[in-house]
Amino acid sequence: MPLGTTASAAADPWPAEGLEQVPACPVCGAEERERLYDDLRDRLFATPDSWELWQCDGCSSAYLDPRPTAGTVARAYERYMTHGPPAPPPTPSGSLARARQAALNGHLNRRYGYRLEPSARLGGAVVPLMPRMGALVDRFVRHLHFEAPTPRLLDFGCANGEFMLRMQSLGWEVHGIDFDPQSVERARAAGLDARVGSLVDLAPAEQRYDAITLGHVVEHLHDPGAELRRARELLRPGGMIWLATPNVEAIGHRRFGASWLALDAPRHLVLFNADSLGDLLRRSGFARIERLRPGPDARSLFRPSLAIAQGLAPLGTAPVESSPPLPPAWQARARWAELRSWLRPGNAEELIMAAWAPA
Ligand SMILES: [Zn+2]
Repeated sequence: MPLGTTASAAADPWPAEGLEQVPACPVCGAEERERLYDDLRDRLFATPDSWELWQCDGCSSAYLDPRPTAGTVARAYERYMTHGPPAPPPTPSGSLARARQAALNGHLNRRYGYRLEPSARLGGAVVPLMPRMGALVDRFVRHLHFEAPTPRLLDFGCANGEFMLRMQSLGWEVHGIDFDPQSVERARAAGLDARVGSLVDLAPAEQRYDAITLGHVVEHLHDPGAELRRARELLRPGGMIWLATPNVEAIGHRRFGASWLALDAPRHLVLFNADSLGDLLRRSGFARIERLRPGPDARSLFRPSLAIAQGLAPLGTAPVESSPPLPPAWQARARWAELRSWLRPGNAEELIMAAWAPA
């Protein structure tokens, strides 16, 4: 669920009956905690509510308490940004773009088993030598290996189906599910198989997927453990789950505190660190768990976070696109943060993890 919106007017305060208490950590169940922030605001939609974020003493995840109930949380997404049609997969034009595409295809074919054309074998050797480029391409396919003849993917939080279209163009059979009826309608209009709901709404025996992906979804879930357990049941033996989510231990969070964009109250209910997400995956029945290399993402988070810190984020407009460009000194800080998180992924803005159902 990427950020960005075109909302305008502020809404009414959240109704008291639409809130629930969260007396224990939704990740590990511990009750001991410290309050991180007591006045978090909805920076995207400028609603009048303020939210409290707590940090668990047990696993160091952060979580909202109180938070919107599952029955009313849709209110926080009324003007969310995935209601437009999905962008089609990129088609390179011009000889330079085609050569670049051939190099990237060569990398995907060699590293992930795709059979994409045109393909330059040299790309398979060169792209991994360019850390930034390699991380972006790997992230583009969510580190999914292609297995013939037609691997089956379920994208949870599929939104308008953009990632589904991309993977379909790479040879996958794609299915999607999302809480948001408007987004699902967009995905269906693009000819995709998408439905409204979450993983726990799917019967475990219904289908066996080769891969399930959650791109910035797990932080939105009221019961992430139940959803991950169902994901494991929906996967074929040895199938892979892929998750990307904000990292509560990111350099950007330490630097910007309450202004860090990825706090995103009241939509982000839980913020993980690598250990807490890994432990939850293990308790959900996954066998092998890996933290994957993050992309260079500090600049994209620093820019709107700085705007929020300076009070510049315009009410009700998209911070990501509309926030002012980073001044040079901040560009340098963001690049330094990207380098540090390259060396130590536990510092990255984004946490990317994969885990496998027992074979
Ligand atoms: Zn905890």
